[in-house]
Amino acid sequence: MVHRGDAGMRISIIGTGYVGLVTGVVFADKGHSVICVDTDAEKVEMINRGEPPIFERDLEPMLKRVVEGGKLSATTDLDEAVLNSEVSFICVGTPVGSFDYIDLRYIKEASKSLGKALRGKDSYHVVVVKSTVVPGTTEHVVIPILEEYSGKKAGEDFGVVMVPEFLREGNAVYDSLNPDRVIIGGLDERSMNIVKELYRDYEDRFFITNPRTAEMIKYATNSFLVTKISFINEIGNICKLLGIDVYDVAKALGMDRRISPHFLNAGIGFGGSCFPKDVKALIGKAGEVYYYPIILNAALEVNERQALRVVELLEKMVDSLDGKDVVVLGLAFKPGTDDIREAPSIRIIQTLLNKGARVHATDPKAVKNAKKVLGQHENLKFYEDAREAVKQGEYVLIVTEWDEYRDEELYRDKVVIDGRRVEEAKKKSKHYEGVCW
Ligand code: NAD
Repeated sequence: MVHRGDAGMRISIIGTGYVGLVTGVVFADKGHSVICVDTDAEKVEMINRGEPPIFERDLEPMLKRVVEGGKLSATTDLDEAVLNSEVSFICVGTPVGSFDYIDLRYIKEASKSLGKALRGKDSYHVVVVKSTVVPGTTEHVVIPILEEYSGKKAGEDFGVVMVPEFLREGNAVYDSLNPDRVIIGGLDERSMNIVKELYRDYEDRFFITNPRTAEMIKYATNSFLVTKISFINEIGNICKLLGIDVYDVAKALGMDRRISPHFLNAGIGFGGSCFPKDVKALIGKAGEVYYYPIILNAALEVNERQALRVVELLEKMVDSLDGKDVVVLGLAFKPGTDDIREAPSIRIIQTLLNKGARVHATDPKAVKNAKKVLGQHENLKFYEDAREAVKQGEYVLIVTEWDEYRDEELYRDKVVIDGRRVEEAKKKSKHYEGVCW
C-alpha cells in the first residue's frame, strides 16, 4: 500500500457541485491538498472566498477552515489542477436526456479535458469516476476518451477507478465522513491501491470490484430505495381507504430485520437530483439490452401520482380551487437542502396554478432556486418566513418537513393537508388530513 506521509495527497476535483465540493472539503479537512475545478467562474470565486455556492449543513465552517488553512482552492483552469495533483475526481453532473437515456455530455467533456491535461504530464495519475454513470460508462466511454486525448494507456501510464457516491443531500458532510461502504471498482492494482490509501479510514468497509459492477451497485441502491418509498406510499394509500394508520403498519414492518425501519415514511414521495433520474437512466440502459423493468417503471408511476394526491384531497374538500389562496409549506425536495431538482413542490404548485389557485409558497432555503424553475406567475408569491406565508390563506399544504414547520401556531384555524406527517399540524388546525393517513 502507498503511504501518503504527513502532507497527504494532492487531489483535483472536476465539477464542484454538491458531490464535488463536499468530497473536496472533506479530503482537505483530512489533510490532503485539494484543487476544485469548475467551469462556472462564479462558483469558483465563491469557493475561494470560503463561501459554499450550495446550502449544506456543516459545510460552511469546514470550507472556511480549509480555504483559510491553504488546503483547498478553486480554479477554472483544469490543466493547472491536473498538473498539480496525483488524483482527479470526476464529479460532474449526469442528467437524463431525451427518452430517459443518461446524458453523458459533461462526463465526455470532462474526460476530454482531463485527457488533454494528462498528455502534458510525466508522472502517474489516477482518475476517479465519482459521478453516477450507467454500467459500462467508465470502461467504454471515459477510458477511451482519456486514452485518445492523452495518447497514453490506461492501466499503464495512468489509472482509472470507479468509486460511486452515496451521500444524501442535507447530510452530505456527515455521510462523506461516515460512509456505510466504499465501493472501489478498478482494473489494476496500482491505481486501486492509491484509492484505498485515500479512503484508508474506512478500510473495514471496502468492497472491491470492477468498474461496471461499482456503477451498477449505485443504481441498484437508488432503485431499491425508490421502490421501498413507492411501496410504502402504495400501502399508505390502501391504508387510508381502509381507515388504518400506515405509520403504525410501517413501525411494525420496520421491526422485521429483513425489512429495516428506514425509508418507510409514507407521504408524497421522492424527488431530488438523483432518485428520479437514476431510475430513469437504469430503465434506459435496460432498454438498450431489450429488457423492460416492470418494478422500476411502477415505482416511478406511483411516485408521479403521489405528489398530486395533496391537490386531489384539497380539491375534494373545496370543489374548485379557482381563486382560492393556498399556502405551500416547503419547496426543497427534502429538509436541510436548497435543492429543488425534481421536487414534488414543483408539480404541486404548477397543478395548483393550472387550476386557478393563488399560491403562497415558502421555504427557509430554497426560494431562490424555486424562483428560477417556476418563473414569474401573477398567482404565485414566495416567502422565506413561513409565518408570513400562512397569513395569506386558509388552506395549507405541507410539502417539505422542515423543523420550522413543527410549530403548531402555524396551523391555527387552517385547513391542512399534510404530505409529510407533521404531527404538530394536527393540534390547532380547523381540519387536518394526511395524504395517506
Ligand atoms: P451538480 O450539478 O451540483 O454539480 C456538477 C458541477 O459540475 C457543476 O458545478 C458544473 O458547473 C460542473 N461541471 C460541469 N461540467 C464541467 C467540466 N467539464 N469541468 C468542470 N466542471 C464541470 O451535480 P451533483 O449533484 O454534485 O452531482 C454530481 C454527480 O454525482 C452526478 O452524477 C450525480 O448523479 C452524482 N451524485 C449526486 C448526489 C447528490 O446528492 N447530489 C449523490 C450521489 C451521487
